[in-house]
Amino acid sequence: MKILKSPKEAHEYRKTLNGSVGFVPTMGALHEGHLTLIKRAKSENENVIVSIFVNPTQFLPGEDLDKYPRRLEADFEICKRAGVDAVFTPNAENMYSEDEILIKAPKIKGYILEGFFRPGHFDGVLQVVNKLFNIIKPTRAYFGKKDAQQLYLINQMVKNFFFDIKIVPVDTVREKDGLALSSRNVYLSPEERKRALSISKALKRAAKLSTVTDNIDEIKKEMMNILDVDKLQYIAFVDRNFNYINKIKHGDTIILIAAYIGTTRLIDNIWI
Ligand code: AMP
Repeated sequence: MKILKSPKEAHEYRKTLNGSVGFVPTMGALHEGHLTLIKRAKSENENVIVSIFVNPTQFLPGEDLDKYPRRLEADFEICKRAGVDAVFTPNAENMYSEDEILIKAPKIKGYILEGFFRPGHFDGVLQVVNKLFNIIKPTRAYFGKKDAQQLYLINQMVKNFFFDIKIVPVDTVREKDGLALSSRNVYLSPEERKRALSISKALKRAAKLSTVTDNIDEIKKEMMNILDVDKLQYIAFVDRNFNYINKIKHGDTIILIAAYIGTTRLIDNIWI
């Protein structure tokens, strides 16, 4: 397995590849969720490249950039075992220059929900994914539905900037009890982890209720009863294009939650 440390090395490596390239961008601290994306990429492409880069521009001041879990050696081992051909691990210095040309997330859909509570977050995400796409030139790129708004915006970027890349959405991988896997779960104490479960429980209950009612207020009330979080940022009902809806539409609804458990901010969603 090749370790590529700079955009230049990655560019050179890319030129040597024949056939399709599946790309899985990550921030590392790899878990079963990432591994599912990697396996999917492996099954659909002749070559698989994973990037591991804790991208500073998508963190807001005061967020967890410095304490974000970093486990590069363990991540390499996971990638090697999964049959990844190359891991791209650049540093901020060789990814960014001073006074850059900046990508802006769309004014509305980049600034609601996650973009409202983390203004500028998606500007940073799109900036780095744009760079990564240009460096790796993947045939297909794999993204988790767990970050549903990110997935939507990346699809928009591909359309708006005419990238010739297929975006492949991958279902959220959960622990047996329902908790969505996240690199940030390591921040949770055992007591907090128990309460974090209320998020996936509320979503599951909402999905079940939506089979008997399309009334969002009713569903939301029930979700509030189940949630045991310290600070709820939003419960939202949107269609697949991130337009707010006022009635459940089966096959075209995403229910999303963002909440703090202690000092850990968690997001989760369910597609119905
Ligand atoms: P991250 O390292 O958190 O930036 O995530 C890298 C990619 O893995 C993103 O496309 C995420 O949506 C995806 N991902 C993260 N957690 C999960 C999960 N539990 N199930 C599926 N995909 C995930």
